[in-house]
Amino acid sequence: MSGLTILTAYDERPDGLGPGDAVYRAGGTDLQERLRTTGATPHVLDLTGVPGFAGIERAGTGTTIGAGTTVEALTRELAADYPALALTAAGLATPQVRATATIGGNLLQRTRCWYFRHPHLTCLKCGGDSCPARDGRHLYGVAFDTAPCVHPHPSSLAMALLTYAATVTTTQRDGLTIGDLLGDGSDPSRDHLLGDDEVLTRVTLPPPVAGEQGAYYRAISRFEAEWPLVEAVCRVARDDAGTITSCGVAIGGVAPTPLRLKAVEAMLTGSTLDDDVVAAAASAATAGASPLPETGYKVDLVEATVREVLERVRS
Ligand SMILES: Cc1cc2nc3c(=O)[nH]c(=O)nc-3n(C[C@H](O)[C@H](O)[C@H](O)COP(=O)(O)OP(=O)(O)OC[C@H]3O[C@@H](n4cnc5c(N)ncnc54)[C@H](O)[C@@H]3O)c2cc1C
Ligand code: SF4
Repeated sequence: MSGLTILTAYDERPDGLGPGDAVYRAGGTDLQERLRTTGATPHVLDLTGVPGFAGIERAGTGTTIGAGTTVEALTRELAADYPALALTAAGLATPQVRATATIGGNLLQRTRCWYFRHPHLTCLKCGGDSCPARDGRHLYGVAFDTAPCVHPHPSSLAMALLTYAATVTTTQRDGLTIGDLLGDGSDPSRDHLLGDDEVLTRVTLPPPVAGEQGAYYRAISRFEAEWPLVEAVCRVARDDAGTITSCGVAIGGVAPTPLRLKAVEAMLTGSTLDDDVVAAAASAATAGASPLPETGYKVDLVEATVREVLERVRS
């Protein structure tokens, strides 16, 4: 990661850039759209091609994924060992986006809220003092209204990584959880908590669990090329009798950050995932929902999406 160290050592840069003077670009699939929409022309520091930025390494202690590893590589290289993550990666965006987008950029992409992306509007996330979506249109907003910003976090991979208790490393810090990285939404101006001069360098997964199965499902308003209305992921390990010995379940598209459903996981662990357990777990996934006037439909979708993902993982 020596190249990354050089990139972020601003006092050594011949062009005189300092922290906050420039933005990082990985695959550029989020950044370029924002720059085009807003007309902003910041200095761009391109991370692609930096030695060690991309690649997947396996060791006894776990699997390390370089932040510049493409989403497509996750679908191809992790399908056997980490099926829930690979299926989530395969389900997002389009083949063209997956071929370019990186795991780091996916975690650090900005909100898709149409007010935030509008070139002539401000809101809590970009210098304003109110959230126009809350009193305006928020059809794609949260169903768990727990923070001042009411648009859900966009990262599907963050949701899947939650179920693995993955950690991330930056040029300045090590061992951050996904929660540490994304925060809890209490600061509505942030989609993640990295500093201006901090580069995400890698994601670390625990060792794979032998025989683990995974499933991913999204409710979406068209076949692809859109963020999900609601999405869910599940990973389970079972013993020879079919009893679940460990599991992870998370949902996305419904809250300021993806939600890991620990109460649902507790219901599933020790069960054989029969119809009654699936129905009860899907219903429990909606506990604590607090939809906005236009997002009540998402509560029903949470139950249906979790039910679908559980049925998929047992089949
Ligand atoms: C049609 C379409 C549908 C999509 N659907 C989904 C979906 O369903 N789910 C989903 O999760 N995503 C979806 N996406 C978003 C897509 O996954 C992201 O745009 C992509 O993952 C961003 O990765 P990138 O490498 O291109 O990031 P970039 O655009 O290069 O960067 C994104 C942001 O992260 C910062 N950044 C990137 N890498 C680093 C780093 N290593 N360290 C510090 N800062 C960094 C950049 O400065 C920028 O602010 C969709 C995109 C499109 C176009
Ligand atoms: S929902 Fe969030 S991003 Fe959208 S207008 Fe409100 S504060 Fe801004």
